[in-house]
Amino acid sequence: MYNTSKYSTLFEPVKIGPVTAPNRFYQVPHCCGMGHIRPQAHAAMRAMKAEGGWGVVSTEETEIHPSSDLSPYAEQRLWDARDIPALRLMTDAVHAKGSLAAVELVHNGNHAANMLTRAPVLAPSDMSVDYAYPKQARAMDISDIREFRRWHRAAARRAKQAGFDVIYVYAGHHMSLPHHFLLPQFNDRSDEYGGSLENRARLIRELLEETHDEVGDTCAVAFRFAVDEMKGIDGMQAHEEGRAVVEMFAEMPDLWDVNVSDWSNDSATTRFQPNDGYQTPYVEFVKKLTTKPVVAVGRLTSPDMMLSMVKRGIVDFIGAARPSIADPFLPQKIRTGRIDEIRECIGCNICVSSDNLGIPIRCTQNPTMGEEWRRGWHPEKIATKGTQEETLVVGGGPAGLECAMQLAKRGYQVTLAEAGKELGGRVLAESRLHGLGAWKRVTDHRIYDLQQRANVQMFMESDLTAEDVIELGIPNVFVASGASWRRDGVGRSNRRPVDITKGMSILTPDNIMAGKLPDNGPVLIYDDDQIYIGGVLAEHLAVAGHQVIFVTPANMVSPWTELTLEQVRIQKSLIEHGVIIHTGQKLAAISDTGCRLACVYSEQLREIKCGSVVMVTERTRHNDLYDTLKVGPSSFETLELIGDAASPGLIADAVYAGHMAARNFEEDPDKVAQQFFRREIVSLQ
Ligand code: ADP
Ligand code: SF4
Repeated sequence: MYNTSKYSTLFEPVKIGPVTAPNRFYQVPHCCGMGHIRPQAHAAMRAMKAEGGWGVVSTEETEIHPSSDLSPYAEQRLWDARDIPALRLMTDAVHAKGSLAAVELVHNGNHAANMLTRAPVLAPSDMSVDYAYPKQARAMDISDIREFRRWHRAAARRAKQAGFDVIYVYAGHHMSLPHHFLLPQFNDRSDEYGGSLENRARLIRELLEETHDEVGDTCAVAFRFAVDEMKGIDGMQAHEEGRAVVEMFAEMPDLWDVNVSDWSNDSATTRFQPNDGYQTPYVEFVKKLTTKPVVAVGRLTSPDMMLSMVKRGIVDFIGAARPSIADPFLPQKIRTGRIDEIRECIGCNICVSSDNLGIPIRCTQNPTMGEEWRRGWHPEKIATKGTQEETLVVGGGPAGLECAMQLAKRGYQVTLAEAGKELGGRVLAESRLHGLGAWKRVTDHRIYDLQQRANVQMFMESDLTAEDVIELGIPNVFVASGASWRRDGVGRSNRRPVDITKGMSILTPDNIMAGKLPDNGPVLIYDDDQIYIGGVLAEHLAVAGHQVIFVTPANMVSPWTELTLEQVRIQKSLIEHGVIIHTGQKLAAISDTGCRLACVYSEQLREIKCGSVVMVTERTRHNDLYDTLKVGPSSFETLELIGDAASPGLIADAVYAGHMAARNFEEDPDKVAQQFFRREIVSLQ
């Protein structure tokens, strides 16, 4: 335990206009897939952040009007007074924990296609909607702009009625009308709202003034502004117009919340932006131009970096979305001298993927994220043990480690057996690949925790057979034996093994992750998994100097990674590394000199020469041990198969499965069944 007073600066109250935040920890707006359709889940999740010490806790985007309808995505709404009670749940819950509640009002302009409301889409100029959907936005005329300002003012009033302390004007992420008016690429108007920066920024000025006028007596007005589009001279830059905007409005908002745009730059993954604090070079000028408090983000998880950012006068508040998701109790842990216990965000954007799917948020590091209300899970608390004493966890991957850690926290005697030389399973393996080093934080956190506990015994190089498990005589067994990649080509596109001639060298992702590199080139990676690992391997091998040919039945590289905001970066990186990409092709056969591919549309065949093949298709579950134990003579109190051995998925799914198994162990089965989870059921009123 260190001297906690070292970080006392981070726990000073800070005034924001008419309100005062209890400390410098600020959960900036972030989406969560809960929104207006899951208000109780949303309130409980935000309240958990407040309980964990975040002094300001914000909503996600909150639509101000039916002409900004983000359906089918689940964001917040303040279309009219009927939306107030759902948000009141959040403000009451956040206030009960002593924190301030903030709301990010938004009109999304052409970023909202209004699929539910079918309202006309609005923008500064005529243009398509932001994604492939058959609709165009119309240029707002002066009366549209007047109406929009009226909607914004009315929404601010409703936000105040809902109990919010901080109310946002939002010009960021290329996702809001004020931002669209500001950026020349969206705005080719020739009236007083177009042309010069002064004109393009006019709407922002009006919104700041009107929001102040409407609610500024008791609420702080925050301005969220993307100072740089990260497009170089093709976009707004922090040292040019970005700076000019800050100079122009320096003292107008009560708080500057500054970042970079678009969302993929703001929420950059560690794979493409390994440095925590990566936004600092772009935003550090802001505080020099204003006396108002400034909040900034950039995957800030290091307390020393936080302290230094405040002390160097870069920010007043430590902003966080993802670090607060991975560890809602990060501030509390710093305050109470438990830095070693912080679950650091790994920058994988699984949280982002859930919002992009319209489902409640989940997190690789924090399996309780999104489960606060529906399952009643708390990230730092778990019930103490029941009557059983001893537990055995077989397998030290993410599922086994999380299960063992939670069982140990509950007070059971835990024996953890791992076949390999080191703990970590697939996390250890995947984190060896190019760009994924930070993922190791998932196992580092858990191994560290387990090492501190006297009730845990860990055995490496212990590949347990069914006889071994029976001989150990431990009555409660959790089998987290994982899965391995197939070699035979069976996957999404081929439900039968591919015809393979003996001479070709076939590798799987497991071989590469174990350090084996292809002997003969070029290497053809066949990615029928289409999630992320195929693209990672292609980059990994290209960086290691191999000539790589990437073949996928999908119409792009790693299509799933669109959800984590990485797809464009991945394909760009492969192109830049000289990887030859063939999309829309499935593997028909492998000879000793190459592969026969079939077009997924026309079945037309083509031959590609290669020296080795990496098969990225599906995984085979390691369920033999479990199956043998299940039918064997020995009777266990508990025998459970968890993680990838039960259902191969993401690392986040494995951690979640391990957590669930430990939570449910010795719980009343009826309670567990009832708690499958609470649902927010539509009222029939
Ligand atoms: P998950 O993602 O479900 O945690 P992983 O594949 O990451 O799965 O990890 C499974 C771990 O289990 C691997 O490290 C593997 O070595 C280990 N393992 C598999 N079978 C056994 C066994 N019979 N005894 C001990 N460890 C095992
Ligand atoms: Fe961080 Fe990944 Fe959790 Fe998101 S899902 S908060 S990126 S660890």
